[in-house]
Amino acid sequence: MRKPRFEAKLLAMRAEFPQAADWLDQIPKSKWTQAYNEGKQYGHMTTNLAECMNSVLKGARALPITVLVNETFNKINDSFLTKGIKIMNMIKAEHRYSEDIYVMMQKNQHIATSHYVRMYVRKIGEFEIQEIANTQLGRRAMACTVKLNEWSCDCGQFQALRLPCSHAIAACAFCNLNSDDFVDPVYKLENIFKVYQHHFHSLGSEGTWPQYLGPYFMSDPLKRRQTSGRPTTTRIHNEMDESIPNRCKKCSLYRSE
Ligand SMILES: [Zn+2]
Repeated sequence: MRKPRFEAKLLAMRAEFPQAADWLDQIPKSKWTQAYNEGKQYGHMTTNLAECMNSVLKGARALPITVLVNETFNKINDSFLTKGIKIMNMIKAEHRYSEDIYVMMQKNQHIATSHYVRMYVRKIGEFEIQEIANTQLGRRAMACTVKLNEWSCDCGQFQALRLPCSHAIAACAFCNLNSDDFVDPVYKLENIFKVYQHHFHSLGSEGTWPQYLGPYFMSDPLKRRQTSGRPTTTRIHNEMDESIPNRCKKCSLYRSE
């Protein structure tokens, strides 16, 4: 979300819920908004990461604690092995990115062909990118300032995802730069594969384990949740969650093409 749009929404909220806006004012915007993100979040929000682990551990909830730990260990081991093999096969097939990233870049490249580019400061890679109005979609013509050296664009996508948006791609094309050079290395399969190179080892039978000498813990009955069922999800969707048409729902993030 661009800063002006965010500020307009915040203003609307301030008019209706001034106390909520006052409360939000106490938290730096860089801590909770993508519009003012100053770090490298790659489009992730904390709750999304928690939901991601939830999906890996599905079925391992509400079990006795020792079974729960064992199941968690086994499921993560299975996940590492499956994903590691999948990514290795994709690398062998000479893929550079996961399909989600590939599709997003293809889409941005297609949109970039309709942008008009004006260069300002070549040394720092500053450009103004003019979008063409689309009356059918009701989109006004907008201009974005891209600073390639700073990996930033007014649209906010470039710096938030560390992937070139359509404006950055248009700027790269204008001065014959490879837009792939502006894809953060964390998206490269060869780097993702390194995550899954860590190995788990069999725990063996409990009788072979060393004796436990640490403190023993007991659950506090007062902290038990009173309501039944799973809490409702508060997952926050963003650009990375846009669905891909005709995509098989059973496929995982790193499936091959
Ligand atoms: Zn942009």
